[in-house]
Amino acid sequence: METKLPYISNLSSSSIPRFYTIIEMAFALPQLFAQIPRYPILYPHPSPIHPLPSLSSRRIRVFAKREDHSSPLACAGNKYRKLEYIIPDILSPSPNHHKHEHDKPEQETETVTGPATTLVTEGAIQSNHTVQVSSLARTLGLNSVVLLHSGTGGGLNTSTDKTAFLRCGNVQMNHLLGAEVRILDESDPLAHDARPVLSELRARGHVPYWIPGGASLHPLGGLGYARAAMEIESQEERMKLPGSGRFDYVFVACGSGSTLGGLIAGFTLLEKLRGGGNSSSSAGSGNCVLPRRNVIGILISPTKPREYHEQRVLAFARRAGALIGLDPGDIVPDVRLDDRFVGTAYGVLDVETRMALEMMAQTESMMLDPVYTAKVARGMMHWVQEGEIREDAQRQGNEYEEINVLFIHTGGQAALGAYADVT
Ligand SMILES: *Cc1c(COP(=O)(O)O)cnc(C)c1O
Repeated sequence: METKLPYISNLSSSSIPRFYTIIEMAFALPQLFAQIPRYPILYPHPSPIHPLPSLSSRRIRVFAKREDHSSPLACAGNKYRKLEYIIPDILSPSPNHHKHEHDKPEQETETVTGPATTLVTEGAIQSNHTVQVSSLARTLGLNSVVLLHSGTGGGLNTSTDKTAFLRCGNVQMNHLLGAEVRILDESDPLAHDARPVLSELRARGHVPYWIPGGASLHPLGGLGYARAAMEIESQEERMKLPGSGRFDYVFVACGSGSTLGGLIAGFTLLEKLRGGGNSSSSAGSGNCVLPRRNVIGILISPTKPREYHEQRVLAFARRAGALIGLDPGDIVPDVRLDDRFVGTAYGVLDVETRMALEMMAQTESMMLDPVYTAKVARGMMHWVQEGEIREDAQRQGNEYEEINVLFIHTGGQAALGAYADVT
């Protein structure tokens, strides 16, 4: 894997800019937030938001925010947004957050120091996160090692074409991106503690940088979606939405949790700055009390109970919040997670989820992914069609005639190629 393609210049050392370094700011971040270093790998414009007419009615307007169209890099999805805030540490001459989450902070495990040479991460066999890390590694001129756990979830177990599941989709993407791919089954000790991989890389002269699964446990992992909240606000303003003029409900997948946690931190900061709305503690300056933006996390796996995820998401929201100027008490512990649509296992399409995937393909020509966004779409359709949105809005005193709903498409379609049964 370390052979270099002869006819490709090393872009990271080339003088041709890969991304616009001078960005025409589409929206301004609050001062403290704006000072946090971010290395752009997304397009300089916000990811698009468009209506979903087939899910909308006169009173409930449903839109999609296309995080799968957010970056020119391969298989765009939500992990690129998180990684933008991690790259400055990766490129630092002495990274601060490169260790494995099981390492104690004072533990000095390194013999080699200096800027990272190799990104190392893990995920399920069809992990989208690992592909975005491998792609980032290539963009930065680094190597990547990807650990794929065959025991995570039920995708492999329930597949009738296991060869395809282990080779196609995101596994293929990782290979094409030049990653060193290691498939680990549950009997492999590395599946339970990946640190020996890091030691091995150090022994081979590499400087590994560990990125936890989904980048959520990384101390900077929540910032990307806190910024996304600011981006959404700027889009709301320009879209001239009916009703409250805001997205009253935002539906997003909750896997490792920092997408949801980051969004909560970002929206809470907006409430604090602008007044009205989200948090009960909000004492902003404005006297207009707009209804809150409800961020609803749709759980996609039954492995861990809802309470476990609530605690994690709250911790991620507070950690990101502390970096952008919120006090821990600003983020109220009312993370809204819906666990009714988890299905039978992580990575397994139940009948209803599959119907949601097919319906979105055939009515909106929008391709969902089998692991995350199809479950979110199914959950959101339930909320819309069963009148739960309307009831919830009424309970909150939202009297507007129209309710605006945003579905966040976080990417992941490359996994479909491995789900050979989905036809
Ligand atoms: C990782 C991922 C998610 C979940 O995001 P978390 O921050 O891990 O909760 C949702 N959708 C897709 C397509 C993903 O790859």
